[in-house]
Amino acid sequence: MVSDRLDEMYRDVIMDHYRHPRGKRKLDKADIQNEGKNPVCGDEIELQLKLDGDKVEDIHIGCVGCAVSVSSGSMLAEIIKGKSIEEVKKIAETVKKILKGEEPSEDIDLGDLEALEGVRNFPVRIKCALLSWTTLIDALDQYEHDRADNNKQ
Ligand code: ZN
Repeated sequence: MVSDRLDEMYRDVIMDHYRHPRGKRKLDKADIQNEGKNPVCGDEIELQLKLDGDKVEDIHIGCVGCAVSVSSGSMLAEIIKGKSIEEVKKIAETVKKILKGEEPSEDIDLGDLEALEGVRNFPVRIKCALLSWTTLIDALDQYEHDRADNNKQ
């Protein structure tokens, strides 16, 4: 039964993040901003990062969408706060690999994010879970690209 498998997928941890998303408060000033959309499901996300040196001092994730997209964004906000950009990139790549069913190259403790592994069984939902992570990776790539350009001048 599909509904049984759905129950398994929307485990307590996912619903908790959906009901009480972390990083909800918008930042006054952000060093990095990006937006993302998942047209398949209609999920939309707004991402803001405030940096302290190369560490993520604060983060805002505003996500309007299904439980999987919102909770994935909430878990992202929770896990990357206080981490360096380098660590954040490693976490993001690891989460992407896990969601796509690939073997992660890094052994990282993902905490609540492990709950998203069940999403792999629902191909349509993988895009929902990936949305916040691809939005984050794009934003960091752009930020590093801009920074490299500035250093050349
Ligand atoms: Zn969705």
